Amino acid sequence: MKNINSYRKFKRNDKEVNPEGEYILYWMQVNRRFQYNYALEYAVALSNKYEKPLLIYEGLNVDYPWASDRLHTFIMQGMKENLDYARQHNLNYYSYLEPEPKAGNGLFYKLADHAAAIVSDEYPVFIIRTHNEKVADKVDVPYVTIDSNGIIPLGITDKDPYSAYLFRKVMQEHFLEAYTHPPRQNPVDDLEIQENVELPDAFLKKYPPADEKLENIEQTVSELAIDHSVKPADSDGTRQAALGKLGHFVAHNLHQYDDKRNDPDAKASSGLSPWLHFGKISEYEIVKTVLDHQPEGWDLDSITPNNGKNSGFFNGDPNIESFLDEVITWREVGFHYAHHRPDYDQFESLPNWVKKTTSKHEGDEREWIYSLEEFEQSQTHDEIWNAAQTELRETGVMHNYLRMLWGKKIIEWTPDYRTALDYMIELNNKYALDGRDPNSYSGIFWCFGRFDRAWQERPIFGKLRYMTSDSTRKKVKLKQYLDKFGNQKSLL
Ligand SMILES: Cc1cc2nc3c(=O)[nH]c(=O)nc-3n(C[C@H](O)[C@H](O)[C@H](O)COP(=O)(O)OP(=O)(O)OC[C@H]3O[C@@H](n4cnc5c(N)ncnc54)[C@H](O)[C@@H]3O)c2cc1C
Repeated sequence: MKNINSYRKFKRNDKEVNPEGEYILYWMQVNRRFQYNYALEYAVALSNKYEKPLLIYEGLNVDYPWASDRLHTFIMQGMKENLDYARQHNLNYYSYLEPEPKAGNGLFYKLADHAAAIVSDEYPVFIIRTHNEKVADKVDVPYVTIDSNGIIPLGITDKDPYSAYLFRKVMQEHFLEAYTHPPRQNPVDDLEIQENVELPDAFLKKYPPADEKLENIEQTVSELAIDHSVKPADSDGTRQAALGKLGHFVAHNLHQYDDKRNDPDAKASSGLSPWLHFGKISEYEIVKTVLDHQPEGWDLDSITPNNGKNSGFFNGDPNIESFLDEVITWREVGFHYAHHRPDYDQFESLPNWVKKTTSKHEGDEREWIYSLEEFEQSQTHDEIWNAAQTELRETGVMHNYLRMLWGKKIIEWTPDYRTALDYMIELNNKYALDGRDPNSYSGIFWCFGRFDRAWQERPIFGKLRYMTSDSTRKKVKLKQYLDKFGNQKSLL
């Protein structure tokens, strides 16, 4: 039988390893960390097998969609941390920061020319998906991508799961095997070849390493041709910060997660999504840390497959069950969906019942219609919606429950569904630290019925699930939240 981790490996071409190659190249695109990283682990194994040193390359371009001070600052904080780690561990780590659009063109292929084989990160959306599709044919050596995104390998599913229930069934079937084949905590400890890789002077002249630029991130960011209107968030893009957040969450909020996670005032969720998105922390270590907090007497034998139901699987503490349902099932269903669906970001990908009901209600009269700019600047008639958008715009995050309401109302207040979809993708991906992620598309498309079922028919929404600000006000605790983000008074 195949080891479960073999379903993480995607051979992107049929090229042979180049025996003359100077190194094994690991292109760190998504899993921007040295720990619990299957892709890095695989690159280390190739380095040992072919007796070639490992070169790790991490880059940041300026011209990717939605590049801004907020995203650059967060990513560069993590790159600086990686640089320090690589120096301490004597690793061949080369990081590059593109100073202006197109300046980095050709860099990757120059590195590839001297490689024996290339390993990178499997990722089903955004520019990383495109890179991986484009690059493999253009290099002369094997290009392999490894999925280190979640617990259940992407290669396990054979088609897109259309509901969380369906994916949960798959998850329940494979969880134990996957969880007991974890990534190595420190894969670089296994490196056998310690040789230094010297990159040619001409290359370094054309593509200078980011080292110095990472010393003064604020200054560097201010000089780049990116969107300076989206200000850095008040958070730190390092792995250390992510581990701190995880520690805080298990100590203070895990025990009340099930009860309080929907209350913006309670701040009971982990807040980990930005660090998960940029690969600074692995889902595996979050799951492990949380399972280590199960009550005494609980062990892996307590787990009982439960036909895709969202309780009665992990057993133990219901808060842990509830949290793991979000971090495994709800997080990963979007990865598996996008993996099988290149049209993951298109309206046409929605289920037939959605297309039918939206076409029936396309012409329904809309009482309120706002432009993108009005939405962006929190200028609707609705206090809760405006507060949620202000939180997103000013801080780079939005509370999960309000995110759902936020999306549903954009559907209600735009002239048609496709415009609503465009606005949501634009605002989410521009402002959210965790945007441009498979979960961005899961969340946004969930508002349009993906992974959901048909509900009672009503104007504009048709059979899509409907939400109101009035019921939100009654259902969740919002007072402090509105004091902080309502009317933008504390922020302007
Ligand atoms: C319109 C809309 C847009 C969204 N955009 C994004 C996005 O851009 N990036 C993003 O990561 N998530 C997105 N989500 C999903 C969800 O809102 C966030 O993952 C969650 O709020 C992150 O906060 P947290 O880390 O405190 O979550 P916690 O409650 O602490 O959960 C831990 C982790 O589980 C995962 N998770 C939790 N809830 C969900 C969910 N409903 N769907 C999928 N995964 C979940 C996330 O990885 C999260 O970090 C969106 C949801 C909606 C409705």
